Amino acid sequence: MLIGGGHSHVAVLRRFGMRPMAGVRLTLISRQAETPYSGMLPGVIAGHYTRGEAHIDLRPLARFAGARTIVDEAVGLDPRARQVLFATRPPIGFDVLSINVGSTPDVSVPGAEGAVTPVKPIDRLLERWRAVEARLLASDSPCTVAVVGGGAGGVELLLAIEWRVRHQLAAAGRGAGHIRYGLFTDSAHVLPTHHARVRRAFARTLAERGITVHAGSAVVKVEPGCLHTADGRSHRVDEVFWTTQARAAAWLRDSGLSVDDRGFVRVGDTLESVSHPGIFAAGDVAAVDPHPRPKSGVFAVRQGRPLTENLRAALAGRARRGFRPQRRFLSLISTGDQHAVASRGPFALEGRWVWRWKDRIDRAFMRQYTELPPMRAAAPDAAPADEMAAPGQVPDASMRCGGCGSKVGASVLDRVLTRVKQPAAGRVVIGLDAADDAAVAEVPPGRLLVQTVDFFRELVSDPWVFGQIAASHALGDLHAMGARPATALAIVTVPYGIESKMEETLTHLLAGAVAVFDREGVVLAGGHTSEGAELALGFAVSGDVAPDGVLRKGGLRPGDCLILTKPLGTGTLFAADMRGRARGRWIDEAVASMLLSNGPAAAAFIAHGVSACTDVTGFGLAGHALEMARASGVGVELDLSALPLLPGADETLRQGLVSSLHSQNARAADAIANAARHAGDLRFAALFDPQTAGGLLAGVSCAGAEGCVAQLRAAGYPSAAIVGRVTPGEDGERWRLKIGD
Ligand SMILES: Cc1cc2nc3c(=O)[nH]c(=O)nc-3n(C[C@H](O)[C@H](O)[C@H](O)COP(=O)(O)OP(=O)(O)OC[C@H]3O[C@@H](n4cnc5c(N)ncnc54)[C@H](O)[C@@H]3O)c2cc1C
Repeated sequence: MLIGGGHSHVAVLRRFGMRPMAGVRLTLISRQAETPYSGMLPGVIAGHYTRGEAHIDLRPLARFAGARTIVDEAVGLDPRARQVLFATRPPIGFDVLSINVGSTPDVSVPGAEGAVTPVKPIDRLLERWRAVEARLLASDSPCTVAVVGGGAGGVELLLAIEWRVRHQLAAAGRGAGHIRYGLFTDSAHVLPTHHARVRRAFARTLAERGITVHAGSAVVKVEPGCLHTADGRSHRVDEVFWTTQARAAAWLRDSGLSVDDRGFVRVGDTLESVSHPGIFAAGDVAAVDPHPRPKSGVFAVRQGRPLTENLRAALAGRARRGFRPQRRFLSLISTGDQHAVASRGPFALEGRWVWRWKDRIDRAFMRQYTELPPMRAAAPDAAPADEMAAPGQVPDASMRCGGCGSKVGASVLDRVLTRVKQPAAGRVVIGLDAADDAAVAEVPPGRLLVQTVDFFRELVSDPWVFGQIAASHALGDLHAMGARPATALAIVTVPYGIESKMEETLTHLLAGAVAVFDREGVVLAGGHTSEGAELALGFAVSGDVAPDGVLRKGGLRPGDCLILTKPLGTGTLFAADMRGRARGRWIDEAVASMLLSNGPAAAAFIAHGVSACTDVTGFGLAGHALEMARASGVGVELDLSALPLLPGADETLRQGLVSSLHSQNARAADAIANAARHAGDLRFAALFDPQTAGGLLAGVSCAGAEGCVAQLRAAGYPSAAIVGRVTPGEDGERWRLKIGD
């Protein structure tokens, strides 16, 4: 289990990807799908690099390593129960743990919290910086930008800001005289850990760039628009960035791990906790007892290799090996203007060539994580999950029973259901709280029962998210019928494995699903769980609807407009993800779209006199639109240019990365009158992309269609769009689709 996708863990993932370890399941827990590379950050601020160039995409890297990716923030650790804790999902257990979550600047000075921008988390820094930059460029009013902290990070940051703003203003034909800059440090000089030659070089550069250095001026209090320093002076400031001494996340101290006085995890030279064997820490968050070093990305990067080897040793029960970090290291510190200073011990060199050198090193570092070797046909995690188990702990998979004998054991199930229990409610008369042979539910008088079932293989490696997607997908059919969802029965296949791992997987699947069901007023009333070769999950869901309220696929009227509520592209994006070729951000957005309930969309359609409705799933938009056209006895003309696509879907379609169902779906092209003319169009390919938990496609009168789209967007479907019109269908073109010209 790896918490944090820091500089050491990216190396661990790459190394495990290159040399997988049989029987080991890796899990990466990261707050975001992309992790920043600190060496290039000042260059992002200065505008020399894009944000993407300075971030490592963790999803493809984790997939390369055969690791599960959990995009979530760890908020606690229970070393005794060997579990990582989260705010909203159940804990996740581990056998061996490594922590590489970095540090944040200490903002404990009175008034600082909330009033200043700490340099970490980096994404918040970049977001704030974009707002500050826009403000500085928009106005000629006097403004003071301050950086508190005179280490390399603070100096580089302020020089990058000054350069960026001056050049942007110059490009607009304006001067930068109205902007002042101040650097506050409690030491006598900036860069106190560097040699006097380096300090002199920076003192000169800062002076030349008009930056006032407030040396020996510890900030002791922050008030809106004002910094108070220990020498009793007050300084007017408009924007403050905070890069002072680092501190560790509070949850580490609370975990019971041995930590130093600033909360960093105390480890030996093996990077293993001095108090808890099998728990490792690296990078800023680690305090290496025998070799204390400053907090710097250089050490985090260097620790990647020994950390990997010692994690392997811990997993195999071998002795760990000590690692001595170098005492002196090369720092290449940039001055924002594509110029840098090289500092190592007493040596200092500077020039544009130093920046080019640094640029080459940084880009080469990033290439290790962006240009991964091609993936093997069988993912490393295909190794049997039970290989690490003690003999006898897991029966041989080939000897396991099929049929009812393949059911997950009753005690596992009981424990899981206790953990995910929902309060008995709704129309369920006999449910999980008093389980019997079957669930019993009432159908309200005068209403019709609506039932449907869906089941599919693991789509994302995070079972909690997969549980949510499967639940959302199943409920989509009920919403498409205009029904009110009420009950769900789970159908689960959990891979063979150690009992505790199976129990945890099942807990996460069901807890994720229940999180969605709770939001929709659905009660999980029962189900069936079995063991199998691979994870699969589905739900039989039921709801009810008034007899005159059933929404059908048939019913489209010529003159209706067709509205689609969610963007297309989940098929191609997950096909790309399986090959490690989708950006983490694209997958995050696809998941967010899948988890959007179709309930409010159905309500909006009903309010606008919907004529027919379906949910867009496995057959793709073309297949489902054709079903509607056939059932309604009309033609449909689709507007390719109006089709909303998920971020990244155009890119993955362009690369020909499509789902295995795509070619089957593409047979619907035979029913498209003018298919040949559009065959090369990227959005034409999107018509056949199978969707998981896709949006609703519905017909409403064109007179009210714009209003309906406006209501949908206001209800949380920002991509809702009119994607076609219903036509009477000419001879021979009835029930056919046509692409609008
Ligand atoms: C402006 C600036 C410039 C710098 N330039 C350099 C430089 O040029 N060279 C250098 O050596 N150092 C530099 N540093 C210092 C460097 O940033 C840190 O030393 C380095 O980032 C530490 O790396 P790390 O791997 O320990 O943690 P990080 O790089 O901070 O990575 C930690 C990761 O863990 C994730 N995470 C955090 N908490 C959790 C949680 N609870 N659950 C899940 N995930 C979590 C974070 O999102 C992040 O992805 C710079 C610092 C700053 C502020």
